[in-house]
Amino acid sequence: MVSRDIMRSTTRDFQMYYNPELHNEVRLDTNTNVLGDNPAASKFLKNIDIEINGYPNTYSNNLRDALAELYDLERSNFVVGSGSDEMLDVSFKTFTEWGDNCVSPVPSYTLYDYFVEMNGGKAIGVDLTEEFQLDVDAMLKPEAKIIIMPSPNNPTGNSFKSKDIEEILNRSKGIVIVDEAYGEYADESMVSRVNEFENLIVLRTFSKAYAMAGLRVGYAVASKPIADMMNCVKIPYSLNAISEWAAVAAVKDQEFIRRSVEMVRAERPYLADGLRKLGFEPFPSDSNFIMAKAPVDHAMLVSQLKAKGVMIRDFGSKRRTENCIRTTVGTRELNDLLLSKIEEVLREC
Ligand SMILES: *Cc1c(COP(=O)(O)O)cnc(C)c1O
Repeated sequence: MVSRDIMRSTTRDFQMYYNPELHNEVRLDTNTNVLGDNPAASKFLKNIDIEINGYPNTYSNNLRDALAELYDLERSNFVVGSGSDEMLDVSFKTFTEWGDNCVSPVPSYTLYDYFVEMNGGKAIGVDLTEEFQLDVDAMLKPEAKIIIMPSPNNPTGNSFKSKDIEEILNRSKGIVIVDEAYGEYADESMVSRVNEFENLIVLRTFSKAYAMAGLRVGYAVASKPIADMMNCVKIPYSLNAISEWAAVAAVKDQEFIRRSVEMVRAERPYLADGLRKLGFEPFPSDSNFIMAKAPVDHAMLVSQLKAKGVMIRDFGSKRRTENCIRTTVGTRELNDLLLSKIEEVLREC
């Protein structure tokens, strides 16, 4: 049998990503938009009439132009691709030299280490403070080529302080990536600051508030020189034409995004209260999900809920999120369903 020694040493320990067996469960485990498919993108797909013989635009200029208009920036500030996961890959590919330090906070998005190591970098985790805020001095200490953080943070849910992010941008000699996958839900964004900080890359996605994770569209916003470097490294045509035009339609329907964000802001305190009453300790959130410490064993809770048809995400065996679970904020109906199923599990155990 061929052994894993045949693999490149930096990828030899890789395991496959979260890929649960599904039986029509209600999914509160992936933080997608609970209002359902993006209506403008959906409408585009139903009346689809595009040529598939020719290649899509090499750098997705139709979408870059729509985004430039949305943010009052220029096409040349944008890099577009297949999910913000591709943008993560392109960022590390473009800037990481073999063995370079890449710093991310702990806890944060688990896929960062995978992209760092795949591209030959050395992944260094730096603990957040007790309040899950950035420890600025500790983040800067390893002299990283790339410092990356999600804000709002996944899985904790809170935003980092802008003044801490700014201090990191000012003091770091490398690239600083702020992953705003949940940026639509937050009060502040770094997108408008890309021309002020030449070492800043902001990542955004159509997978969460935009309700089109199935189409795999994400983008990076950066100063023109940085965006240009990334576009030179990115695989040409990586975003297919169907996804590109669906995303253009979605950008032009900001009303759906506003409605989605308002729903989350109204329901988040209701869900947090409900969880608190059941003995959970929810953490403050600026996103469409809540992390909470469970009153019973995390693994038992998550598997019993799945058996009852509701999926949430288990972070309970990881350091700093001991016995914690993460759930997407639902509609009132979904939140009541989740709370009642949790109550059943607590009664039965
Ligand atoms: C969901 C998520 C993404 C999105 O990735 P896509 O490839 O755009 O679907 C990126 N970063 C974080 C922190 C996320 O939670």
